[in-house]
Amino acid sequence: MVEEALFGMGILSVQSRHGFLTDIDGWKRSLTANIVVTTVCNKRCPNCCYAGIVRDGNPRHLSPERIADEVRLVGDVAIVYLLGGEITMHPEFERLLTLARSARGRGKLMISTNGFRLREFEKQLWRIDGSMVTTSDRDHVDCGGGPRPCYRIRSTVGVREGRVYPCCVACGISDAPSTELSDGWERRVLEVEAPCERCVFGT
Ligand code: SF4
Ligand code: SF4
Repeated sequence: MVEEALFGMGILSVQSRHGFLTDIDGWKRSLTANIVVTTVCNKRCPNCCYAGIVRDGNPRHLSPERIADEVRLVGDVAIVYLLGGEITMHPEFERLLTLARSARGRGKLMISTNGFRLREFEKQLWRIDGSMVTTSDRDHVDCGGGPRPCYRIRSTVGVREGRVYPCCVACGISDAPSTELSDGWERRVLEVEAPCERCVFGT
């Protein structure tokens, strides 16, 4: 009842499953959203946190049009990262950047890449605001200790094939709980459990 009244007044505050009071509009504007555009990768890192989709025997690329739709539906988050797998393995890398840029408008648009093919594509990168170069070899994984869910659950969401996941890693676990990427996703995703027990950062 109180929540309904607050929503009605536009204050947009809820208590999530994890016990935090959240200003949803403000929270959404501070979020990073990772959108998976391909499950294909040219590496095989031992602690790949997206192994559940990169090694499922079903390699797939999202069409640039669908990627642009997902960028639009994610809306006014702080940063959108496009990633894989390895994003430069997408056969329409240039076109996907063009359409995603246009869908994102002035909002920050970045890519996450393992960097091994970046020189080849450097002339395409003017369309984005930056890139993060990352891999998951053993030295870089902070397994063990610390609270679970970890800090990622509040600072990031993952998007894969029309679904939103409660952190940037959950979308790399094939059957993790998720909610539909459609109007109101930012409220619904607060109630989705993170699959910490199956995550390389949660074991
Ligand atoms: S960590 Fe990144 S670069 Fe390594 S296998 Fe996974 S998706 Fe590929
Ligand atoms: S699934 Fe992994 S990355 Fe996500 S909140 Fe849990 S421990 Fe953190």
